[in-house]
Amino acid sequence: MGLIVQKYGGTSVANPERIKSVARRVAAYRAQGHQVVVVVSAMSGETNRLIALAREIQAHPDPRELDVILSTGEQVTIGLLAMALKEQGVPAISYTGAQVQILTDSAHTKARILSIDEQNIRADLASGHAIVVAGFQGQDEDGNITTLGRGGSDTTAVALAAALRADECQIYTDVDGVYTTDPRMVPEARRLPRITFEEMLEMASLGSKVLQIRSVEFAGKYKVRLRVLSSLLDDPGEGTLITFEEDDNMEQAIISGIAFNRDEAKITVRGVPDKPGIAYQILGPVSEANIDVDMIIQNVGVDGSTDFSFTVHRNEYAKTMDTLKAQQARIGAIDVIGDDRIAKVSVVGVGMRSHVGIASQMFRTLAEEGINIQMISTSEIKISVVIDEKYLELAVRVLHKAFGLDQEAA
Ligand code: ADP
Ligand code: ASP
Ligand code: MG
Repeated sequence: MGLIVQKYGGTSVANPERIKSVARRVAAYRAQGHQVVVVVSAMSGETNRLIALAREIQAHPDPRELDVILSTGEQVTIGLLAMALKEQGVPAISYTGAQVQILTDSAHTKARILSIDEQNIRADLASGHAIVVAGFQGQDEDGNITTLGRGGSDTTAVALAAALRADECQIYTDVDGVYTTDPRMVPEARRLPRITFEEMLEMASLGSKVLQIRSVEFAGKYKVRLRVLSSLLDDPGEGTLITFEEDDNMEQAIISGIAFNRDEAKITVRGVPDKPGIAYQILGPVSEANIDVDMIIQNVGVDGSTDFSFTVHRNEYAKTMDTLKAQQARIGAIDVIGDDRIAKVSVVGVGMRSHVGIASQMFRTLAEEGINIQMISTSEIKISVVIDEKYLELAVRVLHKAFGLDQEAA
């Protein structure tokens, strides 16, 4: 017996039948004696529909009002699920983020959770209720509705699990766990029964959208036991457990997974003077415009001038180009050019710490397919490359095979 937080994503609550099936699963857990807090997303497609609707009125929707609109998606689902639970004889009560009192900062559309007041939830649990909470939303200290960024319901669930000191946080989705890579791109991908927290953090930050990165950060900070499972199977099995310690008994694979991301764009500032302060002159205005920079390379200069390249989120490509074009003369650059048809592919694995040659194997595999590497970045447990977007699928497939991820672990 324990306290479980369960999160159901958009596909898992896509229609009334699925919502009833979620209610049955919640009822079954309660019948085993568990207390259950459920976090739900908007019904699948709903958040996209609301964004499109907002854009028909305003090309760049006002962030505060956009959050007012987006939060309604989850609000519909909590009402429906609470009703479905009551139909099954389960006493249930729904809460919006603001009603719980999930306090966030005021960064509309990408707010961060600051604190959660879990007193009301505890009282309702004690009186035998199933609690249904709207994911992806909160309110700031002035009472404005905020949302937590795409995929943010994962973070609501883990943050609630941390606040309630739940025994487990279960993320139910449309795949039965975390795979070696996105199974929609590579059918040979395999489910990982366990993945270390560090690897999951890298996978999420490098584009594996099965968990929102902030949910993984929360789980790490508050040591939440986190599991990914399928909502579409009657018996979801063990799914994937995110572990905090490397299990000595388990033979660790060197590479655990391959992540990819099409959300970036590359900017190159050409022919800048190769002298101290140049990186600051280029990236200073970019950061002042509130644009996050990911990978950076500065080429070795010839004849006192050099090229400087970096990547930003694709949504901020136009803004970054405009910012730098406006600065071109001041920086003394010959030109500012860009490419928004790039993709980033990364191999991730804690085994890299103790094995050499992973990078060269990755580069050789790509070279054999004639795929040009435009940028490289590495950390202790990952290697990322930027390539032309049109080779993305090929790159992921050949790397998945080259690192033996399609093979059953020994
Ligand atoms: P939900 O709506 O339940 O939050 P998401 O679409 O956000 O679901 O996340 C689940 C999806 O994540 C899967 O359908 C899958 O296509 C994708 N995905 C990407 N990388 C992975 C991976 N390594 N393992 C499993 N799923 C992945
Ligand atoms: N409904 C939101 C989205 O589509 C949040 C979530 O599903 O986690 O991004
Ligand atoms: Mg998601």
